[in-house]
Amino acid sequence: MLRIALLFALGVYFAFFSNAQPLRIGIAPAKKFTRIKFSNASGDYFIVADTSLIGILNPTSSLEVIFDEKGKMDLIFAGARRKGFNKIKAITAVLGQSLEFSSSLPLNKARSFEGDFEITSLNDRLLVVNEVDLETYLEGVLESEGGEGQQKEYYKVQAVISRTFAQKVINKHAHEGFNLCNQEHCQAYLHKRNGSSMIDSAVSQTRNQVLKNEGDAYAPTFFSANCGGETCDPSFIWNEEIQGLIPMLDTFCTRTKQATWVKRIDPTEWKTFFVEKYSFPVDDSVSYQLLFESNLEHRKAFFIHPRYGIPLRDIREKFDLKSTFFSVRFDNNQVLLSGRGYGHGVGLCQEGAMNMARKGYDYTQILGYYFPSFHLVFTSFERY
Ligand SMILES: [Zn+2]
Ligand SMILES: [Zn+2]
Repeated sequence: MLRIALLFALGVYFAFFSNAQPLRIGIAPAKKFTRIKFSNASGDYFIVADTSLIGILNPTSSLEVIFDEKGKMDLIFAGARRKGFNKIKAITAVLGQSLEFSSSLPLNKARSFEGDFEITSLNDRLLVVNEVDLETYLEGVLESEGGEGQQKEYYKVQAVISRTFAQKVINKHAHEGFNLCNQEHCQAYLHKRNGSSMIDSAVSQTRNQVLKNEGDAYAPTFFSANCGGETCDPSFIWNEEIQGLIPMLDTFCTRTKQATWVKRIDPTEWKTFFVEKYSFPVDDSVSYQLLFESNLEHRKAFFIHPRYGIPLRDIREKFDLKSTFFSVRFDNNQVLLSGRGYGHGVGLCQEGAMNMARKGYDYTQILGYYFPSFHLVFTSFERY
């Protein structure tokens, strides 16, 4: 009972002395979870079903939640099955603990997260929301998105970008009852932090720092793996202008891992795509030749010439290409595409930024290079 009293005291403390609310992250919300399990807790969690405290989940016990056809939930806890709940919460007794979430229907890999969990039932499934503070969430994002073995200044760049992005789209899923999802749709946040001290300190050393424009709006902090030496105009990819993202030449990514690529395609398959989808004039010998021989020195929106009306992004999607930045020639009875970069190429170039960090640039210089129209500001957030 002492711990419960403490928990309520803490709740009162936060309610009175802090405006901060945790972020609500939907865990794989598109999956139709109907039977899920919480286990392998690193400490104690209070299990609250509707308004009743059911008990304490500890490192050796588990909680199962089952969707029932009437839109309510059953739970199996401490050997007993109880029926007919609307909302179930697992609340951490001590900050910094983690709890493992898994699903048997449909089968889903077990993953641990910090913070609290809330489970509600929708029309046809369970919705799992992880309530976590912003900085802990960012550490998880950096581990999921940024990979390992990078320079500290690069992680600081990623921390500012991911924090800015999270704030910019904080209401993206508001109509579904949470702020952001944990998938790439928002930002990948696949598990609790694993305690990489460099990532944790990159997040804490940039605490409250975001990129904004003169009008106090958050920067559109898009990034991709490698821009191919030239960042892309957002309108080439999404058909809309995005203020402040100006294409630029990048000299830092031209010799990195994803700088170039090649792909060979069967000529009949290549030709058929353009004829069927765009009525390409193959009877016109000049046009026909261009289909198999075109040089792309700078990024463009359209293949060959805009008058043919063939967006490069369509070709990338159809042939599963690494980028829209490529030249074409005929080689050994095949169409040979020689490409540059990996990803959409808009905004920050990850390999370029990594290379800058290795060469000794600090995170403010790297952000200034890729986002020259924006500046770093300190903000205190309603959600901490
Ligand atoms: Zn999302
Ligand atoms: Zn680049």
